[in-house]
Amino acid sequence: MHVVLFDIDGTLLAGAGAGRNALEDAFFALYGKRLEIAPHRLSGRTDRGITLELLREHRLVAPPLEEPAFHQVMDEYTIHLQKRLLQAPGTLLPGVSALIDCLRTKPKVAMGLLTGNSKLGAWHKLAMFGLQESFSFGGFGDSHEDRDDVAREALASLDPATEPKQVWVIGDTPLDIRCARAIGAKVLAVATGCHPMAELATHQPDLLLENLADTKAVVRALLNSHFPSVLPAIG
Ligand SMILES: [Mg+2]
Repeated sequence: MHVVLFDIDGTLLAGAGAGRNALEDAFFALYGKRLEIAPHRLSGRTDRGITLELLREHRLVAPPLEEPAFHQVMDEYTIHLQKRLLQAPGTLLPGVSALIDCLRTKPKVAMGLLTGNSKLGAWHKLAMFGLQESFSFGGFGDSHEDRDDVAREALASLDPATEPKQVWVIGDTPLDIRCARAIGAKVLAVATGCHPMAELATHQPDLLLENLADTKAVVRALLNSHFPSVLPAIG
């Protein structure tokens, strides 16, 4: 069995700010505070990590109440996200539809998510493109502050017979590369988010591509179990 774990933002989708705006909306609705969250601050991070950091930074709750406050923000965020996505759903990145369609036809491939998004946030973002049923398992960003723990959750959701070396992570940030290493998986980095090829190359992914447009080449790499552990960056 081959397992492919996809990141969402910057990997499957180019967002148009709906997630960031919805998080700002949630803080405004709950605390009357208009935050301006810089896009790079969200890159590769988890919804839990970002939300707890904002709650702490702006001293919005005392530590014992952080957990209920976090859940309140996530509930509010989900409501605003649906509205924001209708206004600005973003776009699917090059090759994503074809890659998912192709992998779906392969009998020994399981596709899951490894995302900093909350489970509901991921569902709503993917639903804008009819992809919400394409991924049957994964790790999500509302359970963990650290993306490495999201990767461990995704791995734990797999058949215990699955070896980490059968798992590929596809993502667009240095944190995606790091979390793949944390579980012993291979990693394909794509420069379709806000990190250029040269920056991603310094983190030594197994494979580095400008985007996922070349379906045949991507599928060949993902399904080749003898793929060397480290390849020089392409491009
Ligand atoms: Mg991403």
